[in-house]
Amino acid sequence: MAARAEALERVRKALGDQHLRGAVRYTAENLYMKRKAAMADLDAQAARGDAIGNFEELRARAREIKLHTLAHLDGYLKQAADQIRKNGGVVHWARDAEEANQIVLEICRKRGARKLIKSKSMVSEEIHLNQHLEAEGLEIVESDLGEYIIQLAHETPAHIVIPAIHKTRRQIADLFGAVAGHELPTDTKSLTAFARATLRHKFMTADVGVTGANFVVAETGTICLVTNEGNGRLTTSVPPCQITLVGMEKLVPRLEDLAVMMALLPRSATGQKITTYFNMITGPRRPGEPDGPEELHVIFLDNGRSQILGSRYEEVLTCIRCGACLNSCPVYRQLGGHAYGSTYPGPIGSVLTPLLQGLEEWEELPQLCSLCGACHENCPLGIHLHEYIIQLRGELVARGRENPLMRTALKLVHFAWTRPGVYRFVAGSAHLGTKPFTRKRKDGSEYLDNLPSIAAGWTMSRTMPAPARRPFHQRWAELERQGGAK
Ligand code: SF4
Repeated sequence: MAARAEALERVRKALGDQHLRGAVRYTAENLYMKRKAAMADLDAQAARGDAIGNFEELRARAREIKLHTLAHLDGYLKQAADQIRKNGGVVHWARDAEEANQIVLEICRKRGARKLIKSKSMVSEEIHLNQHLEAEGLEIVESDLGEYIIQLAHETPAHIVIPAIHKTRRQIADLFGAVAGHELPTDTKSLTAFARATLRHKFMTADVGVTGANFVVAETGTICLVTNEGNGRLTTSVPPCQITLVGMEKLVPRLEDLAVMMALLPRSATGQKITTYFNMITGPRRPGEPDGPEELHVIFLDNGRSQILGSRYEEVLTCIRCGACLNSCPVYRQLGGHAYGSTYPGPIGSVLTPLLQGLEEWEELPQLCSLCGACHENCPLGIHLHEYIIQLRGELVARGRENPLMRTALKLVHFAWTRPGVYRFVAGSAHLGTKPFTRKRKDGSEYLDNLPSIAAGWTMSRTMPAPARRPFHQRWAELERQGGAK
């Protein structure tokens, strides 16, 4: 119940924050439109024979690649680990967040490292790496611009791809100004110039670079990083040691599979044909090479993933974290990411977080959904998120986790709606029954406001029409009598 109350409070807070709602809606809708245009362009290119496939064809191939990888994950993990070792890297296996954090800490201790620089990694957010290392007295600095902003604000990412989606330029200028010790202008050029100058020094003095991985290619042991800012490249080329944290599902079997994935990922995430940087890292620095780490560690993280593998939710592990489901979701667009309270927000978070961390602890997440299916439609892997959300809700009901009042109310609705006489009576008297909550607009139309108890959510943030004085079945019967209904 405490979790439910906290979730409701987060939602209330988000709905009451007009800055946040404006910033999230603007960016999410913008990304949604860019994705749409990019996919239309891809289809046109494919029709001219200039692309390796149109959206639907590539989506089918991407699904095939990822589902095949999951079906043979043990073999591909072994192949990837063997290749990484062959290339000169060190492979670690972490069963959970605690083990992963401990491995990072031990690598730092062995090297006497105190300063870390990190490129964007949702897995590091999932295991709360920064908090863990800071508690041990280490300094870890985010180098992705959005992540740097939220690190300064002591917040968590509000979006998988755009972590500071909820921040306005004024707010960012205030955060940077506090570091600079003087006021900064709010234009994008000045703000990025400040971040660049500040972070450059951090790159040059870091003992360890930490990254995530968009993909790991099993046949070559190659780590792939997709970025737009070049921070991934600096993180993996300047510090003498690199640690890559990767969810164990992030494999693709062959290098050529990247062609399919990379045709979909940037277009789905930001509407770009290709991101500014695409790094493929195969082993640490070799003799004679001018840059790159002398030591490379790859940590494969389970943290609940093996429980999803082989279950009816396995398809969720094909996710490539593009964020398209967030941008298309009407609930996310209203709330932003923090209302979800989990590392992964939006539709993917509503499914993945309960599966990784326990349904009962995260029982409110599957409720943050209108079941419109836009997430599935826009997902480059075609993951049936809306169907999994219904299944998770079903599991909660089966475990007796729904509100007892709601259970009784739904039983009553079922009783009334399956008995024509009772239904007619309820529909006919609904207008009278809701009279205390009915308000009238200037144009004479009526709406419900301040509904009590379990119905409160229906009128908390939207307008609900009042039940008609004469229900539809009465009006239909009248029309038929008059010969007007066809
Ligand atoms: S579920 Fe699909 S749309 Fe959402 S982040 Fe994952 S790949 Fe992208």
